[in-house]
Amino acid sequence: MNPNLTTLEKRGVKWIARAKARHGDRFRYNYATYRSAHENTTITCAIHGDFIMRAQRHIESPLNSGGCLGCLKSITQFNLVKKSKAIHGDKFTYDRFKADEWQTKATYTCTSVNFITGETHGDFNTSPINHHQSPNGGCPSCRQIPHHIKWLKDAATAHGDRFIYTRANYVSRCKNVMVVCRDHGPFAVKARHHAELKNGGCPRCVKISRGR
Ligand SMILES: [Zn+2]
Ligand SMILES: [Zn+2]
Ligand SMILES: [Zn+2]
Repeated sequence: MNPNLTTLEKRGVKWIARAKARHGDRFRYNYATYRSAHENTTITCAIHGDFIMRAQRHIESPLNSGGCLGCLKSITQFNLVKKSKAIHGDKFTYDRFKADEWQTKATYTCTSVNFITGETHGDFNTSPINHHQSPNGGCPSCRQIPHHIKWLKDAATAHGDRFIYTRANYVSRCKNVMVVCRDHGPFAVKARHHAELKNGGCPRCVKISRGR
């Protein structure tokens, strides 16, 4: 070490050497002004730019993050996605997932296909905890599949093959679905009502049966 440096400058050089030994080339210290281990200094993340923290904490902070919030977020994001994939395999994609939303709601994308309409379930919001713990990853469309099947069975029991359901994007029993009457074409009806009503809720079938 250069003998012309002051004691403080020497300490600063040592601190940078220790930081590099721990974090490699991830950080730069061009703007770092070392005063003491417990005082703040500026550190530059090669990816996320400048941040300020206590010199000692930078050396003690977890590997790969070095105390940079940006690094911490991307590590958290990486770990959460890794955990999700270990639980759910390739069922979901994480292109819209951001770790800074992780405590409340994050966006997930379900790749499962609606077996009637052929549309993918797509984006939904839930917390990572719920995404990890619930069997369908918290996808509301997946959750409705058994109800959807039951509804189709009830409809078949009530109406036989009188109606076509390829446009029936079932959401819940209380929401409208598009049902196609083989005689009169499409009409919207509450899912719950379709199986209960005598004519499945087709307005023209109803008119004809009243006219008789
Ligand atoms: Zn960073
Ligand atoms: Zn789904
Ligand atoms: Zn009809």
